[in-house]
Amino acid sequence: MKTKFLVLFILLITSSIVIEAQGLLEDKNTFTRQDTLRGTITPERVWWDVTYYHLDIKVDPDNKYISGKNLVQYKVLKPHNVLQIDLQNPLEITKVTQNGKELKVKHDGNAHFITLKDKQVVGDINSLEVHYKGNPKVAKRAPWDGGFSWKKDDNGKHFVATSCQGLGASVWWPNKDHMYDEVDSMLISVNVPKGLSNVSNGRLRSIEEQDDNTVTSHWFVNNPINNYGVNVNIGDYVHFSEVFKGENGDLDLDYFVLRDNLEKAKEHFKDTPKMMKAFEHWFGPYPFYEDGFKLVEVPYLGMEHQSSITYGNKYMKGYLGNDLSKTGWGLKFDFIIIHEAGHEWFANNITYKDIADMWIHEGFTAYSEGLYLEYHYNKQAGDEYTVGKGKDIKNDRPIIGYYNVNKEGSGDMYNKGAYMIHTLRQLIEDDEKWRMILRGLNKTFYHQTVTTKQVEDYLSKTTGIDLTEFFNQYLRDVRIPTLEYEIKNNVLKFRYTNIIENFDMPIKIHINGSEQWLFPKAEWQTMSTKADDIKIDDNFLVYSSKL
Ligand SMILES: [Zn+2]
Repeated sequence: MKTKFLVLFILLITSSIVIEAQGLLEDKNTFTRQDTLRGTITPERVWWDVTYYHLDIKVDPDNKYISGKNLVQYKVLKPHNVLQIDLQNPLEITKVTQNGKELKVKHDGNAHFITLKDKQVVGDINSLEVHYKGNPKVAKRAPWDGGFSWKKDDNGKHFVATSCQGLGASVWWPNKDHMYDEVDSMLISVNVPKGLSNVSNGRLRSIEEQDDNTVTSHWFVNNPINNYGVNVNIGDYVHFSEVFKGENGDLDLDYFVLRDNLEKAKEHFKDTPKMMKAFEHWFGPYPFYEDGFKLVEVPYLGMEHQSSITYGNKYMKGYLGNDLSKTGWGLKFDFIIIHEAGHEWFANNITYKDIADMWIHEGFTAYSEGLYLEYHYNKQAGDEYTVGKGKDIKNDRPIIGYYNVNKEGSGDMYNKGAYMIHTLRQLIEDDEKWRMILRGLNKTFYHQTVTTKQVEDYLSKTTGIDLTEFFNQYLRDVRIPTLEYEIKNNVLKFRYTNIIENFDMPIKIHINGSEQWLFPKAEWQTMSTKADDIKIDDNFLVYSSKL
């Protein structure tokens, strides 16, 4: 796209002021102090960098009750003596200690401000223990409205799982509940009644039998992990596994399913190595070899819990048996295995700093489903699937949500996000370059938390195209660019409507049985043609309107 720098600059400033103002308005009217405490990098968060958690809890399914503690280890970045820990009602903090001394805690809703007694010296690694207990929020509609799901399997045994994206991990354990700061490693110890087992993230270190008819499993995560990625899954699990020969060597694929589903799962989970093969091709090595990859059956649809993808798609193809693209391609794979595992690259490897930028997780992952098809079938399969899902776009709100108040944007972040990324690929016209850009994205932002701006800048740089208006149009505006045209006396007259200023993305059209590029702008242009009509190539997210 051509750039007129000065105009662009002024427009950028103007449009960002408008967006900002809308945000502030919404902020003032609908967001609360609690939203700000949850969504902002507060002064009580910014001064310390979380380095390690040891979450050590007892789960009592009969009473839907949990209790235990989290050891929070951190590096001091700036001198300060008040530290914010988040834990949501009705769970309660019973005690906080540092170096054996009990500390004073000031509660402000779900945020808890701990006054430290010991001097916090820059560069020091310190730790504190947060003890807590209670009946955690029960998930209303997991995983979207999450918390604890307390269910039973067909044999009447407890089947329990957590899910908490958006809501936040502080719905079930005390932590620094903001996405910008990922813990470097974590030990998860979970005590459950005998006869059940717990599967969390990372690798199983050990299982301890206790005297009180319970067992404790210790899972260690050897990589940075975001808070909502941490999970416990408790059930009457059986286990099987295989080794995947991947780009970085042998990768353990471990499967945990309910006892009665073992045979079904052995057949159905054959999509897993196929997924790994396709995604390593497109995105680069699986980002967590040290922690292995697990698929864990749960009593809800599924979630991208890092290195322990949870699965509840009832052993069906598609999305609970449905093809979201309505093209037939969506029934070629199990949606939950492919989609949730795609998040290992876009969500777990590259993670949003603020949930307002959630499209980075969902747009790329929704797009990855088409790439899976392209790898195992052909390019047309992937194209048709992504375009098919694009029929579902609502254009209700911008894809980017509100910053600093833990508020995501429109659900269009999935299918419109995917279609937007697919459109960008068309502009590059070089599939191998595109694949290298996707792999480079995962390398450049390896194990990092990022903003939309960082992703935009990376894509502008690597594609060699200034994508400023492209992203402003699709992520920050609700309108879909529309090609308005008429054909009269062998002349095609065309222009863009529904665009932000300076949006001038070229598109491919089909005309007289051949393909050609068109360079529409807001102003009318003409070209001579013998054709009666034109058609915009389906791979571009642009609508048309013939006058
Ligand atoms: Zn997703």
